Amino acid sequence: MADCVFCDQLGKNSFKYVLMEDEYSIAILDEYPYRKGNCVVIPKRHMLSISEMTEEENASVFKMITEVSKALEQLFNAKKHFC
Ligand SMILES: [Zn+2]
Repeated sequence: MADCVFCDQLGKNSFKYVLMEDEYSIAILDEYPYRKGNCVVIPKRHMLSISEMTEEENASVFKMITEVSKALEQLFNAKKHFC
């Protein structure tokens, strides 16, 4: 999708800091983080809504969210909160 910043960078393989990647999704370190360690996990297939995700994409994205969260919590000795 030409006007999607994520698809554009994914197509150019230009993410600077890839934390995890599999067939369905990719976890990256935000280049302009709101806070230290700010990450983004995105599906590799362009979509407009989370409701468009397949079961495999959904499992992949949430597995990466869980793994990256665990790593960041350990790295930054972070307090746990969800929202
Ligand atoms: Zn896209």
